[in-house]
Amino acid sequence: MLVGVFYEAIHLPGEAGRENRRVLLDLRPPPGEPEPFPPLWKQAANLAGAVVAHAAGGFKEATPEERDRRLALCLVCEHWREERCTQCGCYVRAKAAWLEQKCPVGKW
Ligand code: SF4
Repeated sequence: MLVGVFYEAIHLPGEAGRENRRVLLDLRPPPGEPEPFPPLWKQAANLAGAVVAHAAGGFKEATPEERDRRLALCLVCEHWREERCTQCGCYVRAKAAWLEQKCPVGKW
């Protein structure tokens, strides 16, 4: 619904559409500004969920090859920041080593 409203707004003909596109571009974070982490309550919920899933899975570790494959994807990911993932807030080196864990955006 909201996407449709934005689509309509930026595709209006003439000056109205140009102005809407300009306003939308101004809303983007300035280049180089770090992507924020989720709110603390969400990070805590994500961590709790990861620990429960890890316990339910019998605390199994990923193989070193799988862990390294995951970390290689994280290291070049736009959501990697200060050893953490900005999508879930987790410390990625720990998360990548837990067998049952998944990347929140489906990269691994
Ligand atoms: S877990 Fe996924 S989203 Fe997060 S840094 Fe790694 S590849 Fe990126």
